[in-house]
Amino acid sequence: MDSVGDTLQRLRETFSAGRTRPAEFRVTQLEGLGRFLRDNQQLLQEALARDLRKMEVTLALKNLHTWMKDEPATKNLLMQLSSTFIRKEPFGLVLIIAPWNYPLNLSLVPLVGALAAGNCVVLKPSEISTSTEKVLTEVLPQYLDQSCFAVMLGGPEETGQLLEHKFDYIFFTGSPRVGRIVMTAAAKHLTPVTLELGGKNPCYVDDNCDPETVANRVAFFRYFNTGQTCVAPDYVLCSPEMQERLLPALQSTIARFFGEDPRSSPNLGRIINDKHFQRLQGLLGCGRVAIGGQSDQRDRYIAPTVLVDVQETEPVMQEEIFGPILPIVNVRSLDEAIDFINRREKPLALYAFSKSNKVVNKMLDRTSSGTFGGNDGFTYLTLPSLPLGGVGNSGMGRYHGKFSFNTFSHHRACLLSPPGLEKLNDIRYPPYPDWKQRL
Ligand code: NAD
Repeated sequence: MDSVGDTLQRLRETFSAGRTRPAEFRVTQLEGLGRFLRDNQQLLQEALARDLRKMEVTLALKNLHTWMKDEPATKNLLMQLSSTFIRKEPFGLVLIIAPWNYPLNLSLVPLVGALAAGNCVVLKPSEISTSTEKVLTEVLPQYLDQSCFAVMLGGPEETGQLLEHKFDYIFFTGSPRVGRIVMTAAAKHLTPVTLELGGKNPCYVDDNCDPETVANRVAFFRYFNTGQTCVAPDYVLCSPEMQERLLPALQSTIARFFGEDPRSSPNLGRIINDKHFQRLQGLLGCGRVAIGGQSDQRDRYIAPTVLVDVQETEPVMQEEIFGPILPIVNVRSLDEAIDFINRREKPLALYAFSKSNKVVNKMLDRTSSGTFGGNDGFTYLTLPSLPLGGVGNSGMGRYHGKFSFNTFSHHRACLLSPPGLEKLNDIRYPPYPDWKQRL
């Protein structure tokens, strides 16, 4: 096996030789990625593979030539004989670091963008999602040109060592804590980064709502993937009156989604590992359990849970929950909810439920977040026409669809002037008599 240094050197040489730049090469790589998903449907999750192929690889293949085109830029009067445009060129050697919660999606969707943009890529999947890591290491490289693509394995220590090397772009998805480590390492080489991070996503529920509808939508998006989703609603903000109406609605929604014994439901997964299970079990002690609350260490089961009477200072309101627990915090008004949200770090996602457009729009206008859902959860993720990306503590940069291509491309400002007609340039050269200064 090559050492890390040898592999990086090999990829760099490929990039320097210009192999990844032609559209035909990019098409071959994207088609390889498409074949990887198609051939390995059983190995991968079938539905996920279908979605990915449809949404990202196909979109990139269909639009690649258009995306690659130089973008004309407007000119001023003095430049009429020049051509001005923006060239989207690949950065070079790109590092993609992925987390464990959607290990395939969060490795491959950025990879589509990086390959489409003509880069060489090192993919570092999460060491925690071991089965996906294995498929990505053993099978994926067979479908791509290995002179421009490599998978590297490891946890914090190995990733730390990898980050000592110089990359031309780093795309990281994970926690804000590790995001800081990645950005610090990138700063040493002045490497630009995209940081797709997490945090606590507020979900405001107005008094003017149908509790059953809200319960369906909030429970679906909170308990999806057992709550282990970066854009999941993390906590509900509502009045004590709405809480009284919402609790029975949530109770019956949870029973309908997962049955009277959620533990035996095929629609509820388990917590990824013992460390996260213990962390979440600790959070069950915050406030008062209104729904659920059961857990079993042996198969890392935590029931879909709702907590009430939660204090702002308790751990469940201090850290990202990332599990099937939904605390409700009481506020007296929309203004108080806005103030509560604005006193905290900018979230990755923010949700507002109300029959009044005015309420939803006021929440949208007076707050900031990476994404926003009005009377909905993270349905926006299914649209490549909308970017995914955080702001402030939830990250920087964006991707999905064409946004991915742009993220992995340097936008180079170009002005090409005619080699002759030097007389026309006289106006810019010294000396500067009055007539020139008046221009
Ligand atoms: P994590 O930050 O612990 O790990 C992410 C990656 O960083 C992994 O590949 C891991 O090996 C590596 N890593 C871990 N510690 C490191 C260190 N000290 N030095 C260098 N590399 C290190 O995140 P996670 O637990 O895998 O994922 C959960 C987090 O990711 C949550 O905060 C979640 O909100 C966030 N997330 C964000 C998005 C998004 O799109 N914004 C998507 C999914 C998950």
